[in-house]
Amino acid sequence: MNLRIAVCPGSFDPVTCGHLDVIERASKMFDKLIVGVFCNPDKKPLFTVEERVQMLREVTAHLPGVEVDAFDGLLVDFARSHDARFIVRGLRAVSDFEYEFQMASINRKLAPDIDTVFVMTSTEYAFLSSSATKQVASFGGCVRGLVPGSVERRLREKFAARAKG
Ligand code: ADP
Repeated sequence: MNLRIAVCPGSFDPVTCGHLDVIERASKMFDKLIVGVFCNPDKKPLFTVEERVQMLREVTAHLPGVEVDAFDGLLVDFARSHDARFIVRGLRAVSDFEYEFQMASINRKLAPDIDTVFVMTSTEYAFLSSSATKQVASFGGCVRGLVPGSVERRLREKFAARAKG
């Protein structure tokens, strides 16, 4: 059977309602969607890869055909390891475009058989990013509605633990 398989890569530090909206909508377009948590050696994440994978598994548990996995190295190699022919990325504003265009072009050069498709953000999440959410949470602000409930709880715990030293 010729399954339509896609990967949806990102840092997801942590997963937001904007990510989840893109994952939910993309999951209807493909037989299988593998959410890939990228272990980026250049970034110092708030949550470990294991924590990010765990949070994503919790919030996507209701979605048939969605799996979560961690990866490092080339995205196209990760896609190939899952027999995926598509890469899904979310697009917010014009400011996302240049970076996404560059990445899609490089990935196309590396793997012409794998295509990148974009899912436009829902307008209510157009302003939303993991970094803005972390900043609000770090100052004790309310992030309800920006991240799923389980993530909200973990953000609170993480910053409370940090405050304690
Ligand atoms: P990266 O660190 O590679 O930018 P992120 O974890 O920030 O990855 O995001 C993963 C993907 O989700 C990217 O394609 C990003 O543009 C998209 N994304 C992030 N926030 C939103 C949002 N609020 N609405 C739609 N797409 C989003």
